[in-house]
Amino acid sequence: MKFPEHLLEGYGRYLGKGFVRNKETHERLALYGQTPEVMVISCCDSRVTPEGIFNVGPGELFVVRNVANLVPPYEDTEGQHGTSAAIEFAVEGLSVKHIVIMGHGQCGGVTAFRKNANAPLSTGKFIGRWIKLLEPAAIAMACMPIDKADDPQLAMEYAGIRQSLKNLMTFPFVQEAVRDGSLELHGAWFDIGSGELRVMDPESQRFEKAEPEVTED
Ligand SMILES: [Zn+2]
Repeated sequence: MKFPEHLLEGYGRYLGKGFVRNKETHERLALYGQTPEVMVISCCDSRVTPEGIFNVGPGELFVVRNVANLVPPYEDTEGQHGTSAAIEFAVEGLSVKHIVIMGHGQCGGVTAFRKNANAPLSTGKFIGRWIKLLEPAAIAMACMPIDKADDPQLAMEYAGIRQSLKNLMTFPFVQEAVRDGSLELHGAWFDIGSGELRVMDPESQRFEKAEPEVTED
């Protein structure tokens, strides 16, 4: 088995450019540890890269990526809860000030759920069981359709983000931090083709296009 050559080539370019540019930051981070203020929960999708989209360097984002950017509800049971462990690390260990749930267009996890809405893949398989987390989102959407029904994929992607925000609040330590004002929760959605970012309004729960000043560096 051979380590992929193009990755080694990329690493060579990183040593020549990226690492050199951030050398002092790396040294400082190694010496004093990490203090990111923002956690991003994003999809595994290779087209959605939080560090790239927000143009941040090492030490700035605490990122967990999973299929369809889902947060499971709090569960005090045995078992390996990877996403919940990362949330605990971020809130209790690092005291992040923000958690961003970042969904995206053409999400394969959401598509898998929609196409098998009555019998998600197979309950015996990992993705099938994981995306069942979208079931309450689908019910909430059916009861209160907040988005136009002419794009059911987009509506489900939005509903999944709202559900994950709701699930975050089932973690006692998240609830406590939000209530004392030390933590804020946010929803966002990224369009792969156009690069458009939409941010959820916390009051209306609608997603609005972000329009920052566009700069070159
Ligand atoms: Zn996805």
